[in-house]
Amino acid sequence: MKILKFGGTSVGSPERMKKLLDIVNPAERQIVVLSAVSGTTNALVEIASAYSTGDKKKAEILIKELHAKYKDFVDELFATQEGKLNGKELIDYHFNLIASFATELFTPLEEKVILAQGELISTTLYHFYLTEIGVRSKLLPALDFMKIDEDNEPMIDYIGEELGKLLKANADHNFFITQGYICRNSFGEIDNLRRGGSDYTASLIGAAIRADEIQIWTDIDGMHNNDPRIVKNTKPIAHLTFDEAAELAYFGAKILHPQSVFPAQRYGIPVRLLNTMDPSAFGTLISKDGAAKGQIRSIAAKDGITAIHIHSSRMLLAYGFLRRVFEVFERYKTPIDMITTAEVAVSLTIDETRYLAEIEKELNDFGKVTIDTDQTIICVVGDFSMNAHGYVARVLDAVKHIPVRMISYGGSEYNISILVDTNDKVEALRSLHDRLF
Ligand code: ASP
Ligand code: MG
Repeated sequence: MKILKFGGTSVGSPERMKKLLDIVNPAERQIVVLSAVSGTTNALVEIASAYSTGDKKKAEILIKELHAKYKDFVDELFATQEGKLNGKELIDYHFNLIASFATELFTPLEEKVILAQGELISTTLYHFYLTEIGVRSKLLPALDFMKIDEDNEPMIDYIGEELGKLLKANADHNFFITQGYICRNSFGEIDNLRRGGSDYTASLIGAAIRADEIQIWTDIDGMHNNDPRIVKNTKPIAHLTFDEAAELAYFGAKILHPQSVFPAQRYGIPVRLLNTMDPSAFGTLISKDGAAKGQIRSIAAKDGITAIHIHSSRMLLAYGFLRRVFEVFERYKTPIDMITTAEVAVSLTIDETRYLAEIEKELNDFGKVTIDTDQTIICVVGDFSMNAHGYVARVLDAVKHIPVRMISYGGSEYNISILVDTNDKVEALRSLHDRLF
């Protein structure tokens, strides 16, 4: 069985939604995972934030605006009076629910219910549309099988069991549709897999039922070898290993939710990144085999990085120093990305700065602390094994005219990361592209 995930732009208009049948073959047994219509989740975030600041008037205006967009959507999607009526009833139901929060105490619980409405609407509208044109499909509620535990970790075995039961009970169906992004948490409440989480849903489902393949359909023909918004003449990368893809997804290749690589990797299920606008393009195949040998694959950049430098003569010849430094970050649940050390100093980077002030205060006990914000990690993925001579030199040569704050090499065999000021990012990406490809 295959899992096909379509992102927000792939269902972004009635026309696009109808075009999915150019790609989906209703006769094949498959699960189609849909995101919310593009722009919807952002709008729902805004509505929720208006509620949480007590601005009910603003919430009401935003709800009306979004509701109006969906009225047009429904009008265009359905051809029959009956279809239009069902569609209208559906969106009225969801928007009445969203509006009803005006009279309740607004907590993160209510916020998550609001955020879930986008995927609930898109999947049901699609199912109604298929019904109208006589294509048989079965809507599987993600809230009946997608679950995360106390640590917000997806419960793959549970998902497999529950989804397995649903698939068995509907053995006469081929074409299943479900919601990306949404799930239940350990309290049984409605929750989600964080922004962009529909990719993660597809990968979790694929892993849970040991699917043959997971297809992520977006609006670009695979993962490119550099950021196409910044650099001209980028190309899609045909093959990536799971490790390479995870690295690139984390370091800024916006096409794939970074966590979504791991479930597929764990069960060796190939992931294809494909383009709804150009369905016959090969895209990118992410699988176990085919690490880059003697090649540089791709360059990606992640902004919003903060570099922290701790200088301490107490580090000299001491043991346990780094542990105590790391414990500070652990206490504040702040992940560390890059790290480089000297004998009397250590530099590291974080992208979550919520507790930066507290962290800085505690680090001051160890030595002199300097903090630089607005940094960018540039990650080059390829064959950086010890035997592949010269690639590190080529990377550094390409950025020799740019101040480099940190370099991380040797953590894995397939990447080197450098930290630069965000103002130098564009030049760094272009220069690397020119010299490496
Ligand atoms: N609709 C959610 C979002 O916009 C999930 C997704 O599209 O992947 O973040
Ligand atoms: Mg996405």
